[in-house]
Amino acid sequence: ELAARMSMRAVDLVKELMTQGQMVTSNEILDADTAQLIAEDLGHSVKRVAESDVEVGLEGEQDNEADMKPRPPVVTIMGHVDHGKTSLLDAMRQTDVVAGEAGGITQHIGAYQVTLGDDRKITFLDTPGHAAFTQMRARGAKVTDIIILVVAADDSIMPQTEEAISHAKAAGVPIIVAINKVDKPDANPNKVRTDLLQYEIQVESMGGDVQDVEVSALKKMNLDGLQDAILLQAELLDLKANPNRPANGAVVEARLDKGRGAVATLLVERGTLKRGDILVVGSEWGKVRAMTDDKGKPVQEAGPAFPVEVLGLNGAPEPGDTFNVVDSEAKAREIAEFRHRQRREKAAAKTSGTSLEQMMAQLQDSEIKELPIVIKGDVQGSIEAIVGSLEKFNNDEVRVRVLHTGVGGISESDVILAEASNAPVIGFNVRANKQARDEAERSKVEIRYYSVIYNLIDDIKATLSGMLEPEL
Ligand code: GDP
Repeated sequence: ELAARMSMRAVDLVKELMTQGQMVTSNEILDADTAQLIAEDLGHSVKRVAESDVEVGLEGEQDNEADMKPRPPVVTIMGHVDHGKTSLLDAMRQTDVVAGEAGGITQHIGAYQVTLGDDRKITFLDTPGHAAFTQMRARGAKVTDIIILVVAADDSIMPQTEEAISHAKAAGVPIIVAINKVDKPDANPNKVRTDLLQYEIQVESMGGDVQDVEVSALKKMNLDGLQDAILLQAELLDLKANPNRPANGAVVEARLDKGRGAVATLLVERGTLKRGDILVVGSEWGKVRAMTDDKGKPVQEAGPAFPVEVLGLNGAPEPGDTFNVVDSEAKAREIAEFRHRQRREKAAAKTSGTSLEQMMAQLQDSEIKELPIVIKGDVQGSIEAIVGSLEKFNNDEVRVRVLHTGVGGISESDVILAEASNAPVIGFNVRANKQARDEAERSKVEIRYYSVIYNLIDDIKATLSGMLEPEL
């Protein structure tokens, strides 16, 4: 396309680029700066009007500290299956003081907000399970402020509890432990607290700084205690946003409805979203035709941490896509089309996403040389030996960051976790199941199998030494 615009043959342009040290093919994507340089070298004058510049200014100006107002925390509930995530979400929802008065009917829109007696608010993402959280993170949305780790007091830490801890740590999101089912006769909350120590989670009564709250979702016991803990954590995080600016935020979920077209739940991060606003959402765009809250009530506007279901987009975006309000339909369309193309090209270009070699190349450009990995193995002993050996390599310049370890085959959720942090998955004497292989294929996460610890350590060592700055 660039060649055509300069009225020259593509092969000649490729030759020209190669003489300048750019090894490209004729259908490769050039970045805007390279394109401009080469066009100017060839005697053309360049005016950058679109595409490369379309996204400039989308985020708008930085907010002034004076305009920042406290905003509600956004909370995700995680934990092992059957430990009570859904029950807790339901129980929390019923504590909302405005739900009753409004007479609204609870709608499942992927997120809801409760207003407590003193008008303080908490927003919950109500898709329990780790996949939703990780998929959002993989797309760059960092909407969760706090993770509630639900642990059943009669069962203590189970595999998905471990996974949840790894997710929280990888995302750098603070945890509050909800010790659930304390109404049960065989409940043993203290076992949960001590078991958590193995995962470097020290609750307050164990001398640490992670809050823990005993609850019963079934008997609705101490829900206010949990809410207080959330609000305290929110205060510590000093969550603020400027409500008086055009909105941006993230997609929580989206679908195509036969009658209503694209329906998307958006969570505002900054600013206030209003009816009639023109939006770019991922690679879709549209105008906010109607907005409803989680009680099905029409609303005219939505401020920070307020989830709303929005009608009027021309297509369904993906969870975790970001949205921005822009000032004209033309601009919205242009950006959406640009991103559509970008996504297609990226998908085509992405041959291997997180191979060790690629990571090396990426890491060489970045300041912090960290190699994130997920390790699954056949027995705890060998996993510990592997982690121990890897930690020995850590020094001032490079380090291995073990996101998650576990005994057993490589599962889909291991791959999803790895994807969000651009990490490879290492299998020691274990294989990946079909779902995991499919997911890895789709997300281009590298899975490496080893049966000799020495080989594994050697490969990681080679990767790390590639990350070291050359001594000058
Ligand atoms: P999830 O898989 O984590 O979403 O767990 P659910 O919320 O579906 O709960 C699993 C089971 O545990 C259900 O039968 C619930 O009724 C029960 N359950 C949840 N919370 C409690 C609780 O606090 N006490 C007791 N006794 N049972 C509970």
